[in-house]
Amino acid sequence: MPDDCLFCKIVAGDISADVVRETDRTVAFRDINPQAPTHILVIPREHHADLGELVGNEALLAAVLNETTAVAAGEGLESYRVLFNTGSQAGQTVFHVHAHVLGGRRMNWPPG
Ligand code: 5GP
Ligand code: ZN
Repeated sequence: MPDDCLFCKIVAGDISADVVRETDRTVAFRDINPQAPTHILVIPREHHADLGELVGNEALLAAVLNETTAVAAGEGLESYRVLFNTGSQAGQTVFHVHAHVLGGRRMNWPPG
């Protein structure tokens, strides 16, 4: 793992997080700066910088996507948005791939 990766540190337990679900491959925790009443990040335990790096790994990609729906169900969300900011221009600030699961309010479309 890269020494300076914030989300690897959360996986390792070196930085605390409000973890809502864990599997052998993934961790889901509440975003520190929530953009909706429910805002949870789903990450693979393994370090991959972004969605492009994950796409070659179908099993891990499926594990992350399966967890997004499990998180939404666990939060009782019927409507929710799953997104991967990919690249800094799209708003990615942490380069350990993560799915945002957002819900609990009406979502605008298109996003800004
Ligand atoms: P990105 O902008 O890369 O798509 O999303 C990164 C997300 O990580 C942001 O929504 C930000 O609020 C969240 N975040 C950054 N640092 C921490 C942290 O230390 N703990 C938690 N739980 N979330 C964080
Ligand atoms: Zn990492």
